[in-house]
Amino acid sequence: MKKMTRQAVFRKLAALYERMADAYSETSAAIGLSCENCENNCCTSYFQHHTYVEWVYLWQGLNSLPEEKRNEYIARAEEYVRTARALVETGVKPSIMCPLNDNGLCGVYKHRLMICRMHGVVNSITMPNGKKLSFPGCFKCQELTSDMPQVPVLDRTRLYKELVMLEMGLLGSKVKSMPKVDLTLAEMIVLGPPKLNP
Ligand code: SF4
Ligand code: SF4
Repeated sequence: MKKMTRQAVFRKLAALYERMADAYSETSAAIGLSCENCENNCCTSYFQHHTYVEWVYLWQGLNSLPEEKRNEYIARAEEYVRTARALVETGVKPSIMCPLNDNGLCGVYKHRLMICRMHGVVNSITMPNGKKLSFPGCFKCQELTSDMPQVPVLDRTRLYKELVMLEMGLLGSKVKSMPKVDLTLAEMIVLGPPKLNP
């Protein structure tokens, strides 16, 4: 894919995120899942993200915040990374509140990443090598679907492919030579915006 301007990539990513929200709403409605009054908060889930395009867009969101708030999130992210690494070294999977969670609300709601958007519902993805991965949704979703004869599933393959296209549009010919991204959101914050040439 031809390299795109950063503005065009951001515009298309915002539109893709809207389509993810629509797909999520459809599946969560079919399951009867609502986050309202949830006694848990899934923003403690520990996972890595894999695209420059989401990393750079996350930083666009962070840069639009007042400096004081941004610095607060960076400090929290540094603490998160320290604690998570110590836990991983002892073989424990971290379950720490995301540094961007502000009293239950996402501090970068419009810029949150794909996994944050899909986590709640049952979803699946078919990888380019044909391997199918399935995710059961959050604990509440799992309770709601446990007795369902036909569980509604959000297939995010098409959405993921569109994200990959935007990654290619952002990186252009460098897409094959850039190091792979495998970072938690906190690490993406601590490292700062990815270093991409204009
Ligand atoms: S996605 Fe699930 S665990 Fe997360 S807030 Fe919503 S209902 Fe709760
Ligand atoms: S970025 Fe937002 S939605 Fe994602 S884990 Fe952090 S607070 Fe939750």
